[in-house]
Amino acid sequence: MKRLVVLGGGESGVGAAILGKVKGMDVFLSDFGTISEHYRAMLDEEGIAWEDGKHTPELILNADEVVKSPGIPPTAPLVKALVEKGIPVISEIEFAGRYTDAKMVCITGSNGKTTTTLLTYHILQEAGLNVGLAGNVGKSLALQVAREQHDVYVIELSSFQLENMYRFKANIAVIMNITPDHLDRYDHEMQNYINAKFRILQNLTPCDAFIYWQDDPVIRRQLEQVTTEARMFPFAEYKEENTAAYLDAEDRLFMNTPSTSLVMPRADLALSGLHNLFNSMAAGLSACLLDIKKDDIRKALGNFQGVEHRLEPVVTIDGVRYINDSKATNVNSCWYALESMPSSGVILILGGKDKGNDYTEILPLVKSKVKAIVAMGKDNSKIVEFFGPHVPVLHDTHSLAEAVETCAREAKEGDTVLLSPCCASFDLFSSYEDRGRQFKNAVLELNNKK
Ligand code: ADP
Repeated sequence: MKRLVVLGGGESGVGAAILGKVKGMDVFLSDFGTISEHYRAMLDEEGIAWEDGKHTPELILNADEVVKSPGIPPTAPLVKALVEKGIPVISEIEFAGRYTDAKMVCITGSNGKTTTTLLTYHILQEAGLNVGLAGNVGKSLALQVAREQHDVYVIELSSFQLENMYRFKANIAVIMNITPDHLDRYDHEMQNYINAKFRILQNLTPCDAFIYWQDDPVIRRQLEQVTTEARMFPFAEYKEENTAAYLDAEDRLFMNTPSTSLVMPRADLALSGLHNLFNSMAAGLSACLLDIKKDDIRKALGNFQGVEHRLEPVVTIDGVRYINDSKATNVNSCWYALESMPSSGVILILGGKDKGNDYTEILPLVKSKVKAIVAMGKDNSKIVEFFGPHVPVLHDTHSLAEAVETCAREAKEGDTVLLSPCCASFDLFSSYEDRGRQFKNAVLELNNKK
């Protein structure tokens, strides 16, 4: 009997363990942290052996194969020991992909993955397809393969997940963009991060499709070095040779694939901002390639409800708009947030756990649009030092309450308070969701006090 060891008892790990069990394997799950009640119950219900709070080497190093949670770095001593012993270490997506013939739409990139994944899923669902949502959003792919039968999956893939994918094949692979992120996990070598992202192209055949942002300098450069047999569908704001989705001079959005030519006014898109134009193009092209009817695509691109913590309008108080973009955990996503803001009067909340940020990219937009920066974090010294000379006002705050109060004091009618922090949240919050919700609660409280 094949022994499958799963490292990590979260959504993906528990899903992989259940799929292993369904496929008749001897499954053991180990988590160094604490497994939540919900997942413990699921494992117990299936009679799957597990441990938490430790990794017992004797129960792990005897595996035939290991499924590793993307959160565990390849440098973890246990992972190194497995590799040294020649035991294959794979991701949950790789594992699940072996047991389904469903079509796979796989989306990666530094920014826009979740939005594009949810938008694509929304279009396919509205069109009546039997579609599953998996990867970083939605339920574990393995769990769905074990218990449900979908014809198509839309999967959000992080670079961490892609690291341990080898044979898995997408039918439609999407790279939204590549900008520096998570470099702390890639030896501060951008090329390592790029290589991980480009693994999404491995195993594509001429029947498959590759959708990407044509103007991304990093993708362009990488495409000079790697080849793919897949059909290419680049998107861009303005048409070049081969561009499959673009705008024309009248702000109409065109999307062309071999079987579909779709046109719609940009103004009809539910999501605004340049970044969301790109997200809509990538989702729309995927839908065209799956032969979804044009009317269904237009309708769904027009009625999508946005995603929490991504440029999410919270409330307007005394003419001041408050926007929650807590998911902006890197500099590039903040650039897009600032790009879509009015030309002046922005009060920007920045800060958190710095991942090796270079703030130069947003400096021109900060100089032209931002009237005050409110730094919010345990240690704001890098932000204070970098932006101090460039903005009229900079406040150094150390809690969310202090930051929101400071913003409210600074703001005048017509201004916008934008939480788009460029950093991970783990210094003051448990997650970016926690940061976003606390921000919304604090702002709504301000409103109630009025
Ligand atoms: P991801 O899942 O890749 O982190 P999200 O859709 O959650 O992407 O968006 C993360 C952040 O990036 C948000 O702040 C959002 O406003 C911004 N963003 C969304 N789409 C894009 C894009 N195509 N390019 C750059 N930034 C984007």
